[in-house]
Formats: sequence, structure tokens, C-alpha cells
Amino acid sequence: MGLKAEELKMIIDCPHCKIPMERVEIEIPGPNVYLDYCGKCDSYWFDKGEFKKVVKDKLAEKEVKKADGMDAWANFDCPRCGGFMTMKYMYNIEVDQCTECLGIWLDEGELLRLNEKNLERIADEKAKGFFHKLYTLRSSRK
Ligand SMILES: [Zn+2]
Ligand SMILES: [Zn+2]
Repeated sequence: MGLKAEELKMIIDCPHCKIPMERVEIEIPGPNVYLDYCGKCDSYWFDKGEFKKVVKDKLAEKEVKKADGMDAWANFDCPRCGGFMTMKYMYNIEVDQCTECLGIWLDEGELLRLNEKNLERIADEKAKGFFHKLYTLRSSRK
């Protein structure tokens, strides 16, 4: 289910706050990545491929796993394509992933849980660095 480039550039609404999300620039070595961010509830949206670009690891999205092999449906539809969202885990952090466009939703609750202690538990150094950056971005906004 590929989305067209222009669809990926469209501003999406936060599925919880129903307001348009901002595009935030995440500085990384190489071309920067623009993530969709909701300033009201502090949530991020990663389109397919954006997460692995940010952590610079082709296999990063393989880290997105089902919870106990079960499908747990999220209580909202994909903000990008309207597809069903399922609950998954990425480096033991709970995320929601769209079953159609494979975008990933990381909400405020999960970002709040990304404190120094939890970050230490992420074994993958690149992922740790990335989540630390998101955590710092978040703290600097408050
Ligand atoms: Zn929101
Ligand atoms: Zn989708």
C-alpha cells in the first residue's frame, strides 16, 4: 500500500486532538527528517521509513513487534490513511502502527515514560540516541 509523495507531505490532523499537526525538523547526520508533531498532546507520527532514517539503521523497523503475538487494536484510525492501527512494541516502547501504510504513532504517554532510566534499557545505541533526542526536544518545549 504505497502512499504517493504528495500524500506524505499533506498536513495530518492529530487523531486525538483533531487539530492539524506541525512538521518538526529532526536534525540528523545527512538530510534532516521532518516528523509530524502535535504540540497539544506531544505526540509524533513517523511515516513508513522515517524511523529507520532517523536512527540510521535499515533494520530498525524490524524492531516493531506485536505484543505477545496478538493483535490489539488501537482506539483510533491512522491519521495518514485512515487504516486500522494496532498496538506494537518498538525497543519495548509501546507504539501504534497502521496496518495499511505502516506509519508509527508515538504518543505522549510513551514519551513521558522515556525517562533516563528507561532509555538505559534500550540496547541499540542508535535507537537510544534517537529516543534521547526526542525526549530532550520534548523537555525543551515545556
Ligand atoms: Zn494531539
Ligand atoms: Zn495508515
